[in-house]
Amino acid sequence: MLCRRISSNNFSGRIPDFIGKWTQIQKLHLHGCSLEGPIPAQISSLTNLVDLRISDLKGRGSDFPSLRKMNSLKILILRNCSIHGIIPDYIGYISTLKTLDLCFNNLAGDMPPSFSQLTKADYMKYSLYINCGGKETFINGTKYEADTEQRGASVLFKTEDWAFSSTGNFMDNDMEADIYIATNTTKLTMPDSELYMSARLSPLALTYYGLCLINGNYTVKLHFSEIIFTANKTFLSLGKRLFNVLIQGQIVLKDFNIEDEAGGPGKPIVKSFNASVTQNTLEIRFYWAGKGTTGIPSRGVYGPLISAISVDPSELRGLDLQTGSFTLRQIKAATKNFDAANKIGEGGFGSVYKGLLSDGTIIAVKQLSPKSKQGTREFVNEIGMISALQHPNLVKLYGCCIEGNQLCLIYEYMENNCLSRALFGFTGQNKLKLDWTTRRKICLGIARGLAYLHEESMLKIVHRDIKASNVLLDKNLNSKISDFGLAKLNEEENTHISTRIAGTIGYMAPEYAMRGYLTDKADVYSFGVVALEIVSGKSNTNYRPKEEFVYLLDWAYVLQERGTLLELVDPNLGENYSKEEAVEMLNVALICTNAHPTLRPTMSKVVSLLEGEASIQSLMTNISSVGGSSSAGLRKNFWQLNASQSQSTSMEGPYTDSSVSITAEIGVNDLLLGGSAHQK
Ligand code: ATP
Repeated sequence: MLCRRISSNNFSGRIPDFIGKWTQIQKLHLHGCSLEGPIPAQISSLTNLVDLRISDLKGRGSDFPSLRKMNSLKILILRNCSIHGIIPDYIGYISTLKTLDLCFNNLAGDMPPSFSQLTKADYMKYSLYINCGGKETFINGTKYEADTEQRGASVLFKTEDWAFSSTGNFMDNDMEADIYIATNTTKLTMPDSELYMSARLSPLALTYYGLCLINGNYTVKLHFSEIIFTANKTFLSLGKRLFNVLIQGQIVLKDFNIEDEAGGPGKPIVKSFNASVTQNTLEIRFYWAGKGTTGIPSRGVYGPLISAISVDPSELRGLDLQTGSFTLRQIKAATKNFDAANKIGEGGFGSVYKGLLSDGTIIAVKQLSPKSKQGTREFVNEIGMISALQHPNLVKLYGCCIEGNQLCLIYEYMENNCLSRALFGFTGQNKLKLDWTTRRKICLGIARGLAYLHEESMLKIVHRDIKASNVLLDKNLNSKISDFGLAKLNEEENTHISTRIAGTIGYMAPEYAMRGYLTDKADVYSFGVVALEIVSGKSNTNYRPKEEFVYLLDWAYVLQERGTLLELVDPNLGENYSKEEAVEMLNVALICTNAHPTLRPTMSKVVSLLEGEASIQSLMTNISSVGGSSSAGLRKNFWQLNASQSQSTSMEGPYTDSSVSITAEIGVNDLLLGGSAHQK
């Protein structure tokens, strides 16, 4: 790689214009010299640059240099270069960019919208956690960075994200004996005690700087505990510590006495403040103003003492859950910038991430693919409707985030992931042991959720894509229906012919898949398939018991005719289930999957059947007199036709259940089976 490093030297004067002639170079570093700005306009010719680092320029400032054609940049550092004005939007579109440092300039204006593209770049931070005077520590999954630099008198210590400066010597003390990190010697029983085992101490002024923070409002929490003075009757108990705290230059604590505030030594006290960051830097200063004891119990222990600092964006409070609108900054902070480690799932419209709000609420963020128009459509549908829906068996939608081309939905987090994973596992793993009572509870939950959608909610919604992966399980294995992206208001009163067919093969009712005929009975059919899967522990689309039976459902009809339905019950249950209830649930599943929509029960009827309040016998007699065996014939015909068209699909391969979406007036021949792509 061609590079120029002009670092650690005594070059002075303006950066020469001729650097513009180095058009072949890929790296340019200008550090640690006495060169002056402005950065010459000729730099724009260096279009092969991959790594551009310029820092600490003296002299006149400049506008943001023109880097528009530098499409290969991976690292861009323009630190302390007196650059003023706004950050150009094109910076966010440099897809190769991994590191961006624009600290200590005079930049103004908002973050360009394109910066939502930089999800992987280490460009700026939204939060900061320091275990002052202590080692790296994890508290509730949050990493508090180590702060173990021993020097204290006139030291400036800097990491990538933060720095501290400490000044002063302890008066009348042997300088050699000064300590700047206090360590607790007694056993602490407080929560998060690792934060309080050690603390940074300063005889005069101790200042922490949060660097490269995104401008905005933050909540700063200062964790204190008096770990030097004691509560016993010894000499060690006689000291009195008083100091001031300033945040962004404003005094927030005056003559602060940790012991008094915490109710004694060895106890924690957390003080919380709001702070506004406008220049990407947060300054927290602890200052000894000459008050308190200086010689008791020893000479070198007075002055500010701080155990830990945490800084979070302040908008991330519970209140936002009610407003329903989240900023991208909040979402990035909650998901640690959409960190791959936080990814919990992937759907046809994008990835799903786990996130943590600063008030402790755990959320699931569905990041809809910006390129997908379908995603946008889903998004608009989903937001408009779902925010109004509240039911214990529907996944709660907290809100959304629309910024630039980012579209995110924010849901309540469901600890036990989706039903398909619980039943079938992913690549054979992560299966849950679901006992019979739990399976019934899950089934009933789905039925109640659907009954609410169809009959009780003001909107009367047909979900259209009920399947095991759209049923999520909370920590108590309660089932909740998710993914209303394909849901559509059932407003077409004159016609039930849908203009867009969207659902998942194997769960879609035949009349809907073939003719676009959509009523709430399409959901009843899908529910029946899911119920069958719950009892059998097998996936409808992947189960092939005999060559001639493509789907679990077809096999179930055969077994019903033979009178051996219980053969379907998941062998993992052994004998630990109620045969009566199992037969009942299987029969409910089968009447729900009747090929004739009119013969399927309503979801409220299903609820009463499952609750044992209505009898299934009368319903079944009715159905056999109307539909008889021809209904099974229609279904078999329909699905087998599709299966035979799809030689390359994964009927026997790994579990696939992605939704498909098909334009209107299609025939059965247009359906793609088992594909992972979403059709348009
Ligand atoms: P498709 O988009 O094809 O319908 P899908 O319904 O599985 O597929 P998503 O709704 O995007 O797609 O969800 C993907 C996965 O993310 C789910 O299967 C589940 O594992 C996980 N997931 C989604 N929402 C949540 C949530 N609220 N809590 C926990 N996990 C979730």
